[in-house]
Amino acid sequence: MSEEAPPLSGRRRRVGTMYLVHFSRPYYHARHYLGFALDLHRRLARHRRGEGSPLLAAVVDDGIELILARTWCKVTRALERRGHRSPRRRFCPICNGPRAYDSLKPRRDPVTGVGT
Ligand SMILES: [Zn+2]
Repeated sequence: MSEEAPPLSGRRRRVGTMYLVHFSRPYYHARHYLGFALDLHRRLARHRRGEGSPLLAAVVDDGIELILARTWCKVTRALERRGHRSPRRRFCPICNGPRAYDSLKPRRDPVTGVGT
């Protein structure tokens, strides 16, 4: 008898904030971190203490400052998955200027399901 994994649909539909962290200087070839949080301020505080992400822990340990470059409010993890398929630099206004805001928009409102 096999155990079934708990359904993910409820978790996937949770609405939160996606955020892009720009590093004050590159860490090897990494320059950004894209994440999703239900409580962004708490998550950023954890990152700055070196918790929650092995990459960010290494970055912080190397003395690199984490700069919150952009947020996407009231989105789901679906947008984060799309974001991970593209170069993060493209979405970053620090690297890419105002053009960054034209990229990576939610396809539908996560609450109403209406297309945007
Ligand atoms: Zn950047």
